[in-house]
Amino acid sequence: MSVKKFLVVGAGFSGAVTARQLADAGFSVTVIDKRPHIAGNAYDHLDEHGVLVHKYGPHIFHTNSKRVFQWLSQFTDWRFYEHRVLAQVNQKLYPIPINRTTINELYGLQLSEAEVESYLKDVSIKVEKISTSEDVVLSSVGTDLCEKFFRGYTRKQWGLDLSQLSAGVAARIPTRSNSDDRYFSDEFQFMPAAGYSTMFARMLESSNIKVELGKEFNKSDEQLFDGVVYTGPIDQYFDYCYGKLPYRSLSFKHQHHPEDDRVQQVGTINFPNDYDYTRITEFKHLTGQKINGTSVVYEFPTDEGDPYYPIPRPENNSLYDKYRDLAESCKSTYFVGRLAQYKYYNMDQVVGAALELSSKILAANR
Ligand code: FAD
Ligand code: UDP
Repeated sequence: MSVKKFLVVGAGFSGAVTARQLADAGFSVTVIDKRPHIAGNAYDHLDEHGVLVHKYGPHIFHTNSKRVFQWLSQFTDWRFYEHRVLAQVNQKLYPIPINRTTINELYGLQLSEAEVESYLKDVSIKVEKISTSEDVVLSSVGTDLCEKFFRGYTRKQWGLDLSQLSAGVAARIPTRSNSDDRYFSDEFQFMPAAGYSTMFARMLESSNIKVELGKEFNKSDEQLFDGVVYTGPIDQYFDYCYGKLPYRSLSFKHQHHPEDDRVQQVGTINFPNDYDYTRITEFKHLTGQKINGTSVVYEFPTDEGDPYYPIPRPENNSLYDKYRDLAESCKSTYFVGRLAQYKYYNMDQVVGAALELSSKILAANR
């Protein structure tokens, strides 16, 4: 039987994971990316001061999937890291997700865990059917906390009101009556010990994988391969035949502080109500790197620029469904990832989707 030749468009998580699985099964895989580097939006590198930074904003790995964690562990050691975030409200910093400390410090109270639970019950608003992010927030923390922590941040991040976004957006942030101040509560919370780009380099290191960077996908390339895995924006693949899918972008401002070891007490500070940026992240918290000086990144949401966030709302999902139907009619081109599936995926979910797709491709080519 002749060796199957596959083209993978995109060297981010979705492309690299699929490429590796196909290569390990004996396929010959060519991975292209229009950017000059691997790792997609998870790309990290040493800045000019030697600090390990994430070019496209902070990436913190967390998952409840043992399978995903074990699969990635083939290519990296890990550093235990639990992310913590403070939000600035009225010039003071409070833990977000909202927890017992947030409520006690904000309102000058000394409530126990059980009292916080009943406090939240009292202030929350009964919503019959939860469909928007506003429903999620109001039904869990009520109006005042919604206005202080969620409404402004969401408006800035998405250019939309909470009520215009699907429930899943705000539902990413839990509400806690205890004092757990971790941003995530997943079972596995680790950063790749030598960084994401190093992990990707190992993932793509195979005699069956060829990587071509700075190369834009061209549909005429498809005929040279037995199959294609496409991880770019799905609307672009189909020449926007049903119109453009909306994506939200960010512009990143990286800044170095040569004189400081640390400039903030936690990895990220959120600014729900002030400034044009949503948050500032200090990388040394995430990476644990020991080096003089420190580097941070500010995130400014915008409509212009690279597509970073699919925008979860019913009309966009309906438009995506039309593209998905077209995608399903493609015989040997497969679509996976945050842009190709138009899903607000975290990294671990993308890895899961790519592992699933790889099994499907291998089963179809047995
Ligand atoms: P991408 O990483 O976007 O990779 C797609 C690749 O395809 C890109 O490199 C692109 O250049 C290439 N490409 C696209 N079109 C073409 C074309 N026509 N020709 C050639 N190449 C093409 N997830 C977490 O789990 N934890 C976090 O803390 C976290 N933080 C995030 C912070 C920010 C600011 C953002 C934007 C995302 C964050 N994520 C986080 C999500 C994470 O980035 C994604 O889940 C993951 O990177 C998606 O991988 P992907 O391969 O689907 O897409
Ligand atoms: N959010 C908010 N205030 C915060 C943090 C989050 O309103 O302090 C809302 C906002 O709509 C945001 C969403 O919750 O877009 C998801 O937040 P997350 O931190 O998961 O966003 P990401 O890291 O994906 O940008």
